[in-house]
Amino acid sequence: MIPRTESGVHAISWQKELANAITNVEQLLAATKNDAAAVQQHICTPAQFPIRVPFPYIKRIVPGDINDPLLRQVLSYREETLTTPGYLHDPLQETNSNVKPGIIHKYKGRVLLVLGSTCAINCRYCFRRHFPYQNNQNSTLQWTQALDYIRRDSSISEVIYSGGDPLVNSDKKLASVTQQISEIDHVKRLRIHTRMPVVIPQRVTDELLGWLTETNLKVSMVLHINHANELDTEVAEALAKLSMNNVILLNQSVLLQGVNNHADALVTLSESLFDHGIIPYYLHLMDKVQHTAHYDTPLQSAHILEQELLARLPGYLVPKLVFEEPAKNSKTPLTTIT
Ligand code: SF4
Repeated sequence: MIPRTESGVHAISWQKELANAITNVEQLLAATKNDAAAVQQHICTPAQFPIRVPFPYIKRIVPGDINDPLLRQVLSYREETLTTPGYLHDPLQETNSNVKPGIIHKYKGRVLLVLGSTCAINCRYCFRRHFPYQNNQNSTLQWTQALDYIRRDSSISEVIYSGGDPLVNSDKKLASVTQQISEIDHVKRLRIHTRMPVVIPQRVTDELLGWLTETNLKVSMVLHINHANELDTEVAEALAKLSMNNVILLNQSVLLQGVNNHADALVTLSESLFDHGIIPYYLHLMDKVQHTAHYDTPLQSAHILEQELLARLPGYLVPKLVFEEPAKNSKTPLTTIT
């Protein structure tokens, strides 16, 4: 028997939800009430980067709809087996910016800590699906070196927790890491890039809120929400707790073919984000990662979409349409290319 709270929400811990996640295509199709035989020729069993989808996320997928925009983000399609010219394993050349194990230093003033090598969900379009996480495990020695690196560079004012998903770590570990970083005078801000509060809203625990509010760093959280259907009541409750505890909520989405690459979906997403206290921040053109070309949107279509968003939304709800280029000192706005 699954325990429930009074409001009917499953009272399963986030750790259990992580452990119970679906990890193969057959289970995913069955859980979403799709007929495996009918879609067999369109899907594949991934050779690497396995399926991983937790149940709180599955619950938001419309049963029996193989084109559901949430399902499309996590189901492995046949196109994943194709090799596409121009798509690379490390299109952003992150391994060149991997200055120490566990640290990526791409942009001035900010460093990214790779805290953890897994996520609660495996998004098929992930730009880090080929990242060498095995070289970025946070052993005690590597952690000491990473902290020394931040201490020595007084231009670093912001530390970014990334991964994988940093919130797969325990609150005890995250509280300790945050405490050590907050003791470095020149670090003022902490940014957490995570999909956890959306994928498994139970992750917003009292312990998490505890260390987030205790730190003297100014905290922002960048959520990765690509479609308005990812926001349900439980997610809304989790996000409200973060907002009430002074965590600034931002969102960055990826423009994904078959998920959100039309104006209606993006307008609804921006409005829904704002209703949940989240500022739409970036809309990324997809990084050209090998085996993900089927999610990419042609440049011309992206330009047209941007114009439609500008025409239909107030400026503060239009995310900046950007893409990343290796060795550039910031993201590149789409408006700079034709
Ligand atoms: S949550 Fe982010 S890092 Fe993790 S698989 Fe999805 S896109 Fe990749």
